[in-house]
Amino acid sequence: DYPVHARIDGAVVMIGFGSIGRGTLPLIQRHFDYDPDRFLVIEPSDAACADLAARGIPYRQVALTPENYRAILDEVMTPGTGFVVNLSVDTSSLDLMKHCRARGVPYIDTVVEPWAGFYFDTEDNAQRTNYALRQKVRDEKSANPGGTTAVSCCGANPGMVSWFVKAALLKLAQDIGVAGNIPSDRTGWARLMQSLGVKGVHIAERDTQARRTPRPRNTFVNTWSVEGFIAEGFQPAELGWGTHETWFPENARRHSTGSQSAIWLNRPGAITRVHSWCPTPGPQFGYLVTHNEAISIADYYTVGSGPAPEYRPTCHYAYHPCDDAVLSLHEMFGAGRQQPDHHILSEHEIVEGVDELGVLIFGHAKNALWYGSRLSNAETRDLAPDQNATGLQVTSAVLAGMVWALENPDAGIVETDEIDHARCLEIQMPYLGPVEAHYTDWTPLQDRWQHFPEDIDESDPWQFRNVLAS
Ligand code: NAD
Repeated sequence: DYPVHARIDGAVVMIGFGSIGRGTLPLIQRHFDYDPDRFLVIEPSDAACADLAARGIPYRQVALTPENYRAILDEVMTPGTGFVVNLSVDTSSLDLMKHCRARGVPYIDTVVEPWAGFYFDTEDNAQRTNYALRQKVRDEKSANPGGTTAVSCCGANPGMVSWFVKAALLKLAQDIGVAGNIPSDRTGWARLMQSLGVKGVHIAERDTQARRTPRPRNTFVNTWSVEGFIAEGFQPAELGWGTHETWFPENARRHSTGSQSAIWLNRPGAITRVHSWCPTPGPQFGYLVTHNEAISIADYYTVGSGPAPEYRPTCHYAYHPCDDAVLSLHEMFGAGRQQPDHHILSEHEIVEGVDELGVLIFGHAKNALWYGSRLSNAETRDLAPDQNATGLQVTSAVLAGMVWALENPDAGIVETDEIDHARCLEIQMPYLGPVEAHYTDWTPLQDRWQHFPEDIDESDPWQFRNVLAS
């Protein structure tokens, strides 16, 4: 009963069979016409390979490295066709993407991942930023425009949230009474955001998924990759830096090359708290964990260029992970070391909760608009196997990005801001549960503790100075 969106000739190669790989597989099986004998997973872990063997899915048990990735990919890919779906950690997205494009094989990933060692062995914090990782992909795009499509960072966030920004802007324009033509290029979208008076965007997420038993001490529990979350949580906090900001954090640093759309704070993102808002909790603390979309969205919606453009929104993640992950972070940063045990909550052990993931677009005539998916784990179990709500928001974005790539095979390297949001959401929507728009009159000046003085700007509610928790 499921629509088949496209045909894939040649080999479909999945790299990594963790929580996202496992969840993406059933969507590929449902929605593409391809030869199952030519589907293959590259995956190093014993447990994941045992799972693949039990399912009768072909696999190669090996970890890709800078030394072996070309030879291994050349053995399994079909030049000029097929697909490479990279859902691994510890592999360089840039190197894999370049090699696939050189062979004419479409490529997709969900993050700009570096080779193993980068996150903790790099000394210079500026080099450990997502800005630095992303800029290398942007430089590759500029140096080699066009060619075989490679979709960079096409998960839920980064990914789907960039499509939500566009949907939310169109809704806001309509509700304010200024709806016009749908913009057809980057400049048009940036001008639309500017003309609506938007000061910034939070990627505002609340994950309430929980299991029945309490978190055991010394175990990091999360609803997606523990390794991935720890790695990004230890990177410096980063945010797209808007033109309305009048204050500059003492520990903030700018970049001198590239788009200069973002700044970083000399502090890990996963202990940097911000005031934000989601429909279920209302006001809440989120963590300012660095993400590609904070930089790409600020860059995409810039009017002008360089460090002082005419217009740019502030943009950052405000992530309240599931409660067990909050406790896991607390334990890890307090102890100064990672827990020996990692655990990803499965759809079967989760007994309640929703991953509420959207964009909070603020500073305009209607104050703030949250637009996003409020997918519950219970609904996820009815929609697709082998994943929780967090997973399905990611894997359905991978599906949408793959379809778009097959329909646009020569688009070169693209980020999700640069691809057709309406087409992608059309494919993804059946898997997102309720997708809703909520206006709120909340601002970061409200609901604070009144008994202590704070360094805030009461004249301008949406200053980052007010959003950053002291
Ligand atoms: P996971 O930790 O569950 O799985 C990662 C898999 O990669 C593991 O099975 C591991 O064995 C494999 N792997 C490790 N080293 C490898 C190597 N050298 N070569 C090949 N495979 C290797 O992670 P996950 O939750 O499935 O996430 C996968 C990726 O997706 C991560 O990079 C994560 O950051 C990203 N992600 C993105 C989003 C988004 O919304 N954009 C959301 C969740 C996860």
